[in-house]
Amino acid sequence: MIILKIGGSILTNKDSKTSEVDSSSLKRIASEIKDSMDNSQKQLIIVHGAGSFGHPPAKKHRIGEEFDRKLYPQKRLGFCEIQNEVKKLNMFVCEAFINEGLPVIALSASSFITATDKRITSGNLDLFKNYLSKGFIPVIYGDVVLDDDLEFCVISGDQLIQYLAKNLNPDRVVMGTDVDGVYNKNPKTHDDAIFFDKFTSLEDLDTLEGTTNVDVTGGMVGKIKELLDLADLGIESKIINAEVEGNIFKVLEDKEVKGTIISRGN
Ligand code: ADP
Repeated sequence: MIILKIGGSILTNKDSKTSEVDSSSLKRIASEIKDSMDNSQKQLIIVHGAGSFGHPPAKKHRIGEEFDRKLYPQKRLGFCEIQNEVKKLNMFVCEAFINEGLPVIALSASSFITATDKRITSGNLDLFKNYLSKGFIPVIYGDVVLDDDLEFCVISGDQLIQYLAKNLNPDRVVMGTDVDGVYNKNPKTHDDAIFFDKFTSLEDLDTLEGTTNVDVTGGMVGKIKELLDLADLGIESKIINAEVEGNIFKVLEDKEVKGTIISRGN
């Protein structure tokens, strides 16, 4: 079994104020996945990010922050809005996959997962197993869920990867994003960023970068934390560039692809 994450950065224009799907990138990824599914038998789970569909409304409604009880109805409606936006992106993704002939089934986190202080604490995966055993490809995505402490919270695709991998014990976990892997600092803003073939500890980032500022490192630190947690359980993962044509196909075929392996071993 392979768990594949497709970053929101690949599917949407994250900087855009409006929700825009990158249809050509989506079509290419769908066709690479189809080629690999035709080529060799495997069970596959796809997780995708929320990109420009989820981040702006989540920021606007400040979901995941403590709030005054008087604001509850307003927050609840914000939750509904975000849930609906990310579902729209998921429909575009699934439509592209179905058009390629991939048997995808969307399972939304908000309908079966709950969290405590922003971490997933329950979510029955029997239906995942059932769909997998019948040859479906379950698709889940970054979403909002009920939270025992905070009422509502956002669950990233990256946290979902961790939860699924922990509970389903896949052979491989792959994260596709819009850079080649992990560098000592953001490669989009630093020409001299150094690439890691293998990443074993967050300290590698800190010592080299001299800061733990999450803003500086953007979305990558969140991913690395989730994947290091998995590495602690002995589950190795790889971050690759899903914008490079052929990379998704190759990685699904277990062929050599440039990327960063996240593990605790040396
Ligand atoms: P996705 O939407 O694919 O899940 P994010 O946009 O959340 O991805 O995170 C990927 C981004 O993280 C990259 O585009 C890159 O600019 C940024 N980034 C920040 N710090 C690093 C780093 N040290 N190594 C690699 N990428 C980094």
